[in-house]
Amino acid sequence: MTDRRFLIAGNWKMNLDRAGAIELASAVAERMSGVDEVDVAICPPSVFLDAVGSTVMDTPVALGAQNMYFENSGAFTGETSPAMLVELGCKYVILGHSERRHILGETDALVNKKVYAALSAGLIPIVCVGELLHHRESGQTEEVIRRQFEDSLGNLSVDQILRVVIAYEPVWAIGTGKVASPDQAEAVHVDLRRLIEERYNAAVAGEVRILYGGSVKPGNAEDLLSRPDIDGALVGGASLKADDFRGIVVAATGG
Ligand code: PEP
Repeated sequence: MTDRRFLIAGNWKMNLDRAGAIELASAVAERMSGVDEVDVAICPPSVFLDAVGSTVMDTPVALGAQNMYFENSGAFTGETSPAMLVELGCKYVILGHSERRHILGETDALVNKKVYAALSAGLIPIVCVGELLHHRESGQTEEVIRRQFEDSLGNLSVDQILRVVIAYEPVWAIGTGKVASPDQAEAVHVDLRRLIEERYNAAVAGEVRILYGGSVKPGNAEDLLSRPDIDGALVGGASLKADDFRGIVVAATGG
């Protein structure tokens, strides 16, 4: 048995205005009071990190960013550095989200640099991997996940991989309402754990947290989270409603 704690992280993507972000953060924090058996994080747009961070300060809700650059300062117009995120109180940073990979062209090599930079800054990277629909339909899921694992999470020491959270997010299930079945999700989580074991060892594989993401809702969370290798959820749409997000956190506590 391992003592992996569930993590439920909300990815607000490019939604809300400043007042709406503060309102949602405060509604989430209110609904999380007393939750101490599950880690909870919200990841607002970067321009609202400061305001949302102040709103959830001293609550069980941690702050996460949706992206960052891998350098700490310099001539990188429009980018946000790991040091800046730390200064704003971030604990987590989502890296390699499929929207960044597929809309903004991020590569595994870039994600890998960001993972190093996040870890060096003391942030916990939530590193996303996941196959496209045509990969799944042509039987390439395992190969795609292996490549993303090897290249996005390449060359990390044991200490480093233990501080990483992996999020398996099948791209065809993100924002589509098509959730992976618990069996489909569990199978990829098992593959990921086997990849960690091959590179490190079984003890390390047993400690790394692997989240599922893709249309998680209060109604399907319990089934997914009851699978032994699923250690939480990265939640998009349902994290924009405080009650739905709470429902997923409650499912992670065992109802
Ligand atoms: C996500 O953005 O990471 C995500 C999983 O979105 P959704 O829950 O809306 O599918």
